[in-house]
Amino acid sequence: QRGLVWFRSDLRIQDNSALYHASTRCEQLAAIFIACPETWKNHDEGDALVSFRMACLQKLQGQLQTRNIPLYFLEVPEFSLVPEALQQIIQRLKVEALFANAEYPLNELRRDNAVREKLLEHNVSVEYYSDRTLLPPGAVRAASGDPYKVFTPFKRALIQLCAGSQVKPLPTPRKIPPSTNSEHWPKWLAVDVKGNRKLTQKIPSQLLGYSLNIDGSGRVKGWESGEQAAQKRLKAFAEIIDQYQAERDFPAKDSTSRLSPYLNSGAISIRQCVKMALSQNKGLWQGGDEGIACWISELIWREFYTHLLTDFPRLSMGRPFKEETEQIPWRYDEGLFSLWASGETGVPIVDAAMRQLNETGWMHNRLRMIVASFLSKNMLIDWRWGERYFMQHLIDGDFASNNGGWQWTASTGTDAAPYFRVFNPYSQSQKFDPNGEFIRHYVPEISSLSNKEIHEPPMIEGYPQVICDVSAGRKRAIEVFANLK
Ligand code: FAD
Repeated sequence: QRGLVWFRSDLRIQDNSALYHASTRCEQLAAIFIACPETWKNHDEGDALVSFRMACLQKLQGQLQTRNIPLYFLEVPEFSLVPEALQQIIQRLKVEALFANAEYPLNELRRDNAVREKLLEHNVSVEYYSDRTLLPPGAVRAASGDPYKVFTPFKRALIQLCAGSQVKPLPTPRKIPPSTNSEHWPKWLAVDVKGNRKLTQKIPSQLLGYSLNIDGSGRVKGWESGEQAAQKRLKAFAEIIDQYQAERDFPAKDSTSRLSPYLNSGAISIRQCVKMALSQNKGLWQGGDEGIACWISELIWREFYTHLLTDFPRLSMGRPFKEETEQIPWRYDEGLFSLWASGETGVPIVDAAMRQLNETGWMHNRLRMIVASFLSKNMLIDWRWGERYFMQHLIDGDFASNNGGWQWTASTGTDAAPYFRVFNPYSQSQKFDPNGEFIRHYVPEISSLSNKEIHEPPMIEGYPQVICDVSAGRKRAIEVFANLK
């Protein structure tokens, strides 16, 4: 059989379901990646995220070459053109089967359904694998058959389903002899969709509408790209995982895994992560070492948010999980929003956090909650503005986790806590950056202040006054939520 593996957010060769199964079933195998920069822009995917994706793709091409699998690249503006483009390519390459790993946001699901329909009309088989999560969305159900809407029972049920069987990453795909493979694929093809497009085996260094910034060794904003970098990071994190619970909330400490860009581009699989954790915790999902159990639990948050997408399509339509929160009179003050975004709110922990995001493409989880709460509660600005800004700037932007995290913090989402959870940015700052170490790094204007003053500075030249009354904002948010019907 002659097959084509369509890579998307699964840019690795180890433990990749679509690639593995294709390699066991096909004598001749090629791979393809399709960039859709206009759709990516519409999805708010930013330069850092797309640069990292393209850098991982370069590395993937090298790795596929070692297995004699050529990787084709095609650029079409939008998802809507993909079915037609793939059909033409598949016909010209005489491919009989397409293999890919499923993606779950609504537009991705619709694209994949359209591809399946189109190719089936031409007798090409299409196989989508569940690979991004431990269990396929829809597999974790309450006794009533309903999806879980709250994390803790979801986690309990998932562990019950998983604990009985081993988490087993798939073997490395076989190397296909060049005489049966690489020689049988043309170097390029013309594709006739919306202008003349070229399918090539060359990954471009530019993409329409994006400013790609990848250094000579494939790093993006200092982040090493690709599968080997991801494995190196997993190994390094395995050395400190037992400290995770105790230290994970302190942004000045480098104590979390920083695997999120790799999990989201697919440079590492969820099974590889869970396997590492279980192997250090005597196979236990909960209990055992507290640090390890806590990390597993965080991975299950990612799982939870991804599962929610298929059961609640409205999440992919900019709508809140809790429908009654549609009534909230969010504010749309562009001036205040841009001060929040650039890290000039006058609240040091918020400013330090936003500057970390703007400079490195990543933000510590504790800080994501603090800045999201500040924007959506104290400032009462629509959480969707914050969600979009995060997506545009994060190197680890993931629709499910970002939407889930924003909705959780804005209390429009799945949080089981009462509506009035509003983080106090000052006490959070005192608690999680007690010596102001993190603040001093990103907000040097106030670095000479004492450990006491740095969290809530007095009037100081060169640093802004607070842009909103933190306690009045809190009160207003509580009132707004109390008035919901
Ligand atoms: P670790 O602490 O080492 O955790 C390991 C992995 O578990 C992470 O890489 C991630 O895949 C997963 N994880 C951890 N915490 C969460 C969580 N709360 N929700 C979902 N998955 C989690 N994560 C993203 O990957 N992409 C996003 O776009 C994103 N946006 C967020 C927006 C907000 C407002 C909030 C509050 C959280 C967001 N998160 C997002 C979740 C979390 O902040 C990051 O996953 C985490 O900070 C990544 O760092 P790490 O890899 O060192 O995490």
